[in-house]
Amino acid sequence: MKQFIILLLISSYFSYPVFSANMTKNIEKKYVALTFDDGPSNYTKDIAEYLYQNDSYATFFVLGSKVSIYQETLINLIDKGNEIANHTYNHPWLTHLTDKEILKEINDTQESINKVTGYTPTLFRPSYGDINKKLKTMIKLNIIMWTNNSSDWKYKSSKTIASNVIRHIKDNDIILMHDTYKRSYEALKIIVPKLKELDYEIVTVSELMEIKKLRELYRY
Ligand code: ZN
Repeated sequence: MKQFIILLLISSYFSYPVFSANMTKNIEKKYVALTFDDGPSNYTKDIAEYLYQNDSYATFFVLGSKVSIYQETLINLIDKGNEIANHTYNHPWLTHLTDKEILKEINDTQESINKVTGYTPTLFRPSYGDINKKLKTMIKLNIIMWTNNSSDWKYKSSKTIASNVIRHIKDNDIILMHDTYKRSYEALKIIVPKLKELDYEIVTVSELMEIKKLRELYRY
């Protein structure tokens, strides 16, 4: 994924026709980003392994408070090509906190992830999706919500969770799931093959953003 974008950018300097042909082919493909919130948990490693076996990648919005417990899991996620992002430290309602408390939730998470992985996240998703104008200005990370909700926190059946995703799926979707339930892992085993059957490539949020930029650049 990353390689093809870099190759395309390099080839644009030397051979416009080749570049143009490749670009059309690649940006014509359909992409969705899978995201998992609230982890890591005991299911995260299995999820990462399953994604890896299926040439798929996800963005994990992790809680700072869980980072030190799941150090190996986090490193494994990155090794397998996934993206780590910030989902606060304690999962509070951010709009109920003081500015100082809000910044602490975010900065402590950035630091704990960096300490364990050497990687500094660029993406943030507010806990409970709780955000307002003031927070948007305060938070210097890219704020990422979702466009497709599995509602895996609400439904107990993995089939229902999978169907929540599949029946509304469209190009460019950001799918919300949680890596804290076994049923979500089971649902993933229905979702991934179905998305592949529908010709979607499953990428991280940052990759989806790169594709979007390229599409805008070439007015696709
Ligand atoms: Zn959450």
